[in-house]
Amino acid sequence: MSEFPDRLRRERVTIDQMIALYCREQHASPDGLCPDCVSLQEYTHQRLEKCVFGAEKPTCANCPVHCYRADMRAKVREVMRYAGPRMLLRHPVLTVRHLLDGRRAAPKLIRRAKPQDR
Ligand code: SF4
Ligand SMILES: [Zn+2]
Repeated sequence: MSEFPDRLRRERVTIDQMIALYCREQHASPDGLCPDCVSLQEYTHQRLEKCVFGAEKPTCANCPVHCYRADMRAKVREVMRYAGPRMLLRHPVLTVRHLLDGRRAAPKLIRRAKPQDR
């Protein structure tokens, strides 16, 4: 995507912060991400860029499509479960904006994501 909307850019920063927090505290990774978390981060970026909703993207938790592969979905849920409550203290502005984004309903889709897009 050449023009990456600001809201999606912010969502990418939020997930990056959550993965970094999780990796630092759960994988004892003080400088940068462990290889597993690098893969997860790259995967989340790719999903974000290919999201079928484009600039109208809802939060993934509110999404009727769920384009994530099952293994990556499980990993990202684990990260969210751990980092979500801790983010409010460490990155309050990002967290509040993400919570507000979570109130957006998913727009109607003409076509659903194909499995090979995953
Ligand atoms: S889960 Fe839904 S909102 Fe999240 S990236 Fe995939 S299609 Fe977009
Ligand atoms: Zn890690």
